Amino acid sequence: MTAGIYASRASLRTLLIEGASSISQITVTDIIENYPGMPEGISGFELVERFKKQALQFGLEIASEDVIGIAKTHWGNTEGWKVTSAHRDYEALAVIVATGAYWRKLGVRGEDVFVGKGVSYCATCDGPIYKNRDVVVVGGGDAAVQEAVFLTKFVKKVTIVHRRNRLRATKALEKRAIANSKIEFAWNSVVEEISGGNVVEKVKIRDVKSPDIGREIPAQGVFIFIGLTPKTDMVRGIVDLDDGGYIVADREMQTSAKGIFAGGDCIRKRLRQVVTACGDGATAAASAQHYVEELKGESY
Ligand SMILES: Cc1cc2nc3c(=O)[nH]c(=O)nc-3n(C[C@H](O)[C@H](O)[C@H](O)COP(=O)(O)OP(=O)(O)OC[C@H]3O[C@@H](n4cnc5c(N)ncnc54)[C@H](O)[C@@H]3O)c2cc1C
Repeated sequence: MTAGIYASRASLRTLLIEGASSISQITVTDIIENYPGMPEGISGFELVERFKKQALQFGLEIASEDVIGIAKTHWGNTEGWKVTSAHRDYEALAVIVATGAYWRKLGVRGEDVFVGKGVSYCATCDGPIYKNRDVVVVGGGDAAVQEAVFLTKFVKKVTIVHRRNRLRATKALEKRAIANSKIEFAWNSVVEEISGGNVVEKVKIRDVKSPDIGREIPAQGVFIFIGLTPKTDMVRGIVDLDDGGYIVADREMQTSAKGIFAGGDCIRKRLRQVVTACGDGATAAASAQHYVEELKGESY
């Protein structure tokens, strides 16, 4: 969205293709407290709506389609890119990839069976369903802890299962979780199995240091936040990816392929947040603008 705002405001004819079957991660976030200029916090959905309204004012065109591939094309001597969606092909001199990342699965027995029947990757979407119930949150990073705190608005008890003996989340979140009487911790523990009848009833965990020690936590919900996988399959083999599948982009958001720029959660970087995604988007749009103007012989 930020790339869309910058590119269309720079009078580039810009199409933003947003997934038809996937959503922005931020739209599932209840409250964002760390986006500058929003001291009272803002819901992820509301923030994206504001981004969109602003982008549309500058003439951004938006299509709701899933991109399935990107390939080189050319018009005479001019090279460009063909972007293929499920419905049609688009041609462009420059492409900005900002496809984000999705939550990784635990890969334990019962996880797939109980998706939608107790297993969830989105507390904001499913939290209210677990009113006065007991739930387990798996993970120890910012998202896990933030979502655990959010879940305490509804549930009776949250047990955070984390494989280490301390959280990876930022100190402010850690303090809030530890001070919350509805949150308990199962340290040095991994989930072994999620089980139940028609819906989840219990979560079996095991001590990572003493594998003989295990126990079952009665729970009706299991929320899994154990890390991200970038959505970069469409550019595999076209731009350089790192070992984790993240796009390698330089400070100007240029990838290894001329004319393809990238930003946000799908690139290799330290901090995956809205504010950094916005910064990347602005830089990527400026770089794409410069690139297109050079191709047209209009740069100065
Ligand atoms: C539970 C949770 C809490 C969070 N809390 C915070 C917070 O408090 N503060 C904060 O700053 N950040 C937070 N984040 C992180 C934040 O959501 C991300 O860093 C941010 O959304 C990244 O933006 P992005 O544009 O890179 O990716 P996304 O926002 O995920 O957007 C990716 C877009 O690409 C589209 N897409 C993907 N594949 C395709 C395709 N094949 N074709 C077409 N379109 C496609 C998707 O539809 C989507 O619109 C949180 C994330 C989660 C999950």
